Amino acid sequence: MVANGVLVLNRNWMAIHVCSLQRALGLLVQDLAQVVTEEYETYNFDSWRELSVHMEEEGNRFVHSPSFRLAVPEVILLNRFHKAPPKTVKFNRRNIYLRDQMTCQYCGVKPPREKLTIDHVLPRSKGGKSEWENVVLACQDCNARKGNRLLGSQTSMKLVRQPSKPHWLSIIRHSLKGHNRPTWNKFVDMAYWNVDLKED
Ligand SMILES: [Zn+2]
Repeated sequence: MVANGVLVLNRNWMAIHVCSLQRALGLLVQDLAQVVTEEYETYNFDSWRELSVHMEEEGNRFVHSPSFRLAVPEVILLNRFHKAPPKTVKFNRRNIYLRDQMTCQYCGVKPPREKLTIDHVLPRSKGGKSEWENVVLACQDCNARKGNRLLGSQTSMKLVRQPSKPHWLSIIRHSLKGHNRPTWNKFVDMAYWNVDLKED
């Protein structure tokens, strides 16, 4: 998502979405969006194409057409205000790891990835569902210690944090770690500090 996507800013410069490069280029060509640089400059398709001619090969990625090359945009700004439906986060293994930040939610340690397991807080054998509110990362030790017991009544183990559905911006923030996307960082942070993370 972070590696190949393009961050989409609404007309008010608030991050609202991550789209594919293909989609971003389509919006640029149709003059529905502009490219945003790290210095907050904006370029429409023609001026971006012009600028791309002079960009160094090194440190930049390009898409090529028969007649020109275009630097791959990292962030685009929509020309019109888009009333975006709330973006939801897919319930999958990757996003559970990102939400819980590779940390055991019982003892707080960060073991190597292969030592982390996904634990059902209310065990599946007792009707616990696979959903955001009922799964957490647990280290192998804690998972074994907890087994099929219930928190509270059957074990004194406690959760570091009550699991809930994450906001997409917090997932993006966590997945930005290890990627060199300074322009994304700015806008994702800005949007992150401005939203109610419980919304969704
Ligand atoms: Zn643990």
